[in-house]
Amino acid sequence: SRIDGECDTLVLGAGPGGYTAAFRAADLGQKVILVERYAALGGVCLNVGCIPSKAFLHAARVITEADEMAGFGIRMGKPVIEAENLRTWKNHVVKKLTDGLASLARARQVQVVQGTGSFTSPHTMTIQTAEGEKRIRFVHAIIAAGSSATRIPGFPYDHPALMDSTGALDLQNIPEKMLVIGGGIIGLEMACAYDAFGTRITVVEAAPQLVASADADVVRILHNRISQRYEAIYLNTRVTALEPKGDLLQARLEGEGAPAEPQKFDKVLVAVGRRPNGRAIGAENAGVRIDEAGFIPVDSEQRTNIPHIFAIGDICGEPMLAHKASAQGKVAAEVIAGEKTAFDVQTIPSVAYTDPEIAWMGLTEIEAQSRGIPYEKSVFPWSASGRALTMARDDGLTKLIWDPDTKKIMGGAIAGMNAGELLAELVLALEMGADLEDMALTVHAHPTLSETVMLAAEAGLGSITDLY
Ligand code: FAD
Repeated sequence: SRIDGECDTLVLGAGPGGYTAAFRAADLGQKVILVERYAALGGVCLNVGCIPSKAFLHAARVITEADEMAGFGIRMGKPVIEAENLRTWKNHVVKKLTDGLASLARARQVQVVQGTGSFTSPHTMTIQTAEGEKRIRFVHAIIAAGSSATRIPGFPYDHPALMDSTGALDLQNIPEKMLVIGGGIIGLEMACAYDAFGTRITVVEAAPQLVASADADVVRILHNRISQRYEAIYLNTRVTALEPKGDLLQARLEGEGAPAEPQKFDKVLVAVGRRPNGRAIGAENAGVRIDEAGFIPVDSEQRTNIPHIFAIGDICGEPMLAHKASAQGKVAAEVIAGEKTAFDVQTIPSVAYTDPEIAWMGLTEIEAQSRGIPYEKSVFPWSASGRALTMARDDGLTKLIWDPDTKKIMGGAIAGMNAGELLAELVLALEMGADLEDMALTVHAHPTLSETVMLAAEAGLGSITDLY
């Protein structure tokens, strides 16, 4: 049958996994077609994920810092939040990046086809475009179709007050009272932004702890602060019913300490996880195996069960993070180009860009305990950091987890302002096989928050300097 185009490598999905893979493959001399259903490149991360959320969180930080300076002799008055202007600025940031991707694609002669793609055989894909159906034949394919927000069955999804993270990032107005269902990274980041914008926040989390995959001591730093700012945080609690009441939504909460009376909210954000988009890409026509949960299993070269088809990013499993997707994208493109490489990283760092931020990498205590891995830890509290005190934010800690025999770094976590940036040093330490001495003997600039890493290492060696 008719073929409208041919390429060495077809990439399905233009998120951080897909565009990275497409660009790398083109740089390695391949003829590449990149298929994306939306007009803008960049996937979830650039359009409705990492980037717009960080724009709001920056605004949130400015607002709260300005507000808190009132306690230290600088009064700036009550901020006026212009939702429309804030949204415009955020959209501008996103557009700058997605336009940038489009020109990077052009510069590399990556052909972008806008439309919804579906495999029709192991070597062909059909794309529904605005101009009709296009059939592409490829030698290799990389599936980078990403994930979507999980929905809760039975909730009134046609009600304007019910939203997922994409709706929350749309910021049509500043609601008075918002319920956030799900105390994971995405829910808490949105809660943090809206709280700063003036919304009264209630968080409901089914697990016994917010951000369940991070260690309790780290999460506590965040929990302590937000529990003072938010209206309520319910752990071990579920929303068992959600009903429209005019413009509002009424939620029934069941669990530890939850109110017996149903509660009304102007907005309800559902942030209970994400599902891979593996079911709607015709994978079966190419023979690509999809597991029960909808993820595509891959080997260390990012190969699926079909040797010339690869999968990367959210669609091939946890953690669903942009930097994992792009790292895997490079590997897939390089393997296709015949390079000897594999996705073999020590760790994929995790960051919640909340206020305060919490960030962790490598082994956590939760994991060490559940897997019976021997470890030791040392913690440096930010209340002893001069820099943290000068920022009026000494709510933080820096923790190192290390091997009791070799003192090599196995994991680490940071809670506090800029924790996400500070974490990079720990990630590098883990990748380089650094031990406590390496970290303690590295001279860190004073006064910085990064010193807390050195001081945590000194604490581990039992040689802490009393330095502010
Ligand atoms: P995606 O970004 O999901 O891209 C997949 C693309 O494939 C999409 O553009 C989609 O339209 C397209 N597609 C799917 N099916 C088809 C088809 N059949 N035909 C054509 N096109 C198709 N991660 C971080 O690391 N840091 C953060 O700060 C962060 N913040 C986030 C905040 C929010 C609110 C959300 C929702 C996510 C956040 N994430 C963050 C997660 C991050 O966005 C994802 O891990 C990342 O986007 C995954 O990249 P990907 O390339 O696998 O897929």
